[in-house]
Amino acid sequence: MGEIVRGRGPGAEPLVVVGSVAIDTIETRADRAPEVLGGAATYFAVAASFFAPVRMVGVVGEDFPRADLDWFRRRGIDLAGVEIRPGRTMRWTGRYHEDMNVRDTLSFEANVFDGYLPTLPPAYCDAPFVFLANIAPSLQARVLDQMRAPRLVGADTMNLWIETTRDELGALLRRVPLLVINDEEARLLSGERNVVRAARRILELGPTSLMIKRGEYGVLFFSGDSVFSAPAYPLEEVFDPTGAGDTFAGGVMGYLASTGDTSPAGIRKAIVYGSVVASFTVEAFSLERLRTLTRDDIERRYRQFVSLTSFDVT
Ligand code: AMP
Repeated sequence: MGEIVRGRGPGAEPLVVVGSVAIDTIETRADRAPEVLGGAATYFAVAASFFAPVRMVGVVGEDFPRADLDWFRRRGIDLAGVEIRPGRTMRWTGRYHEDMNVRDTLSFEANVFDGYLPTLPPAYCDAPFVFLANIAPSLQARVLDQMRAPRLVGADTMNLWIETTRDELGALLRRVPLLVINDEEARLLSGERNVVRAARRILELGPTSLMIKRGEYGVLFFSGDSVFSAPAYPLEEVFDPTGAGDTFAGGVMGYLASTGDTSPAGIRKAIVYGSVVASFTVEAFSLERLRTLTRDDIERRYRQFVSLTSFDVT
């Protein structure tokens, strides 16, 4: 554990995250992982904790494994904002196709998230960085309402909320400078098939910056008139893509909170760190690969990214 703390920047600032904390069942063509650790905020928090102190907001049921809560704490994730309520933890079951970019949701139970209203511990409200990971936009807005003056607010969403709670999502987007979504969500939100046109439309909805995650094709970052493209790390085998996007966002926001550098160059580095952490996540089911990952592993792959993308201009 000392290693994780040592890897953090000396001035790393706290980062608040709200989102789902869940127990997942994942089916791929090759294998099945029943009742494993999942949830958008879970992946985000663990990824971000390699870089900065994380303060988590969410709810779990009494069935949530104590060992996982202990693991979060050992990683420096503050759980004062995580309620343990009577009942079952959120459950999600997903099945991947042969083409792992395609996935079906087989079942979803909100369970203890039904009727949950997040209330932030007072110590969370001053955090300079906040990420609204995937959960109902009304809950994301409620967390944002309680933050005093965050320096950077990022958010994610999903098809379900774009389709069923568009007004709430629209109101939220007007308050979110950085949106981090995948290409399918970008198309649905904008009504545009072309991802660049989709980005232009979305930047009219409120966010000033937009990261579009494109799975094995990498990430596009749009801000003002500038566009930055980062590839995904080329892997021979992907075991489980679940949470790759949340891990990416955790790496990005965690790195930004660790340096405080939100300049265009700082954001580009953060995007590569996010891509690096995401590339590890997909190497095993659930968060298994992140349990053994070290900051040194991250640095090594970060340097490989540099050589992967460098070329001469002459
Ligand atoms: P991703 O692979 O980035 O789409 O994120 C996967 C995580 O999203 C899983 O661990 C699920 O527990 C979680 N999830 C699935 N459906 C929902 C939902 N409706 N609301 C919030 N989180 C969800």
